[in-house]
Amino acid sequence: MLCPRCKVEMIEKDYRGLKIDRCQQCKGVWLDKGELDEVLLKKMGNIIDAGSISQAPTAPKTDVAFCRRCNNHPMIPMRGAGNVEFDWCDKCEGMWFDRGELTVLHYVKDE
Ligand SMILES: [Zn+2]
Ligand SMILES: [Zn+2]
Repeated sequence: MLCPRCKVEMIEKDYRGLKIDRCQQCKGVWLDKGELDEVLLKKMGNIIDAGSISQAPTAPKTDVAFCRRCNNHPMIPMRGAGNVEFDWCDKCEGMWFDRGELTVLHYVKDE
């Protein structure tokens, strides 16, 4: 699958049996529907996302991410727990986390 932002082929990595697509260029993480629950359940948010909290983008994002699974359907910027930003596809319900965002969510959920 291509990266929603960089359009380069992402690398599928196996994290304790969970196959996660990750972009080597921008270090963003793609999660298919339901994968976020597993990531949080197994407390892997900070393992998968190599970015630290300080690397999470703070400025509001202006560039739209596009879901490569749904023929480049524009994704919807959302805010989750801890005010974490991510992008969500309303067609396949996949999620896109920019570098650092999944780490933020990991620590929010841990509290
Ligand atoms: Zn990328
Ligand atoms: Zn989609």
